[in-house]
Amino acid sequence: MKKTRNQSLDQFWRIDDKQLNTPEHDEMLLWLLKKENLKKIIATRSPESENWDWKHVKIHAEEFIVSSSGFRVGAPDILFVVPHYLCKNCNSTHRNMDNCPNCDSDDVIIHPDHQQHFDRYFIEIKPRIENFGMTLKQLKLFISYGYEERAYLFTRDLRFNDEFEGQGIKVIHSLNVQSKL
Ligand SMILES: [Zn+2]
Repeated sequence: MKKTRNQSLDQFWRIDDKQLNTPEHDEMLLWLLKKENLKKIIATRSPESENWDWKHVKIHAEEFIVSSSGFRVGAPDILFVVPHYLCKNCNSTHRNMDNCPNCDSDDVIIHPDHQQHFDRYFIEIKPRIENFGMTLKQLKLFISYGYEERAYLFTRDLRFNDEFEGQGIKVIHSLNVQSKL
């Protein structure tokens, strides 16, 4: 495969992103960039996230996933980074900042190993699913670079929930959140 530094894999495969610059996409992106909105909508699909250390969650928009060899894979709309904690009682690693989800101990500290400080998640925004196969291909590409179980699709399209969920993608809908969106 011939590739240049400036071309990312998703461009190489011509993974369509016509929706990227629509006002609707922008509106959904801007909405997610507010941390209280992000927190609310992630909780609709991942209730355990209520116990995360949201104060220290960092949100990045349109940031590239880069492979270990330095190749740009593609840029999901949102990457967010959740701090890790270590339970000193049972030694499990988790994202709860107060109590260990494994043993309920509150003897919990910020993870001391720098490599394991954070988990990274991504959210891809598609106001509508124009092409199920291409959307799935794009999301699977991102997931293959270390985002197993940590991939969300934010859409207003209710048609393919089961199919995406069956492929390991968590679907979130603004419908589930009280807002003017
Ligand atoms: Zn524990």
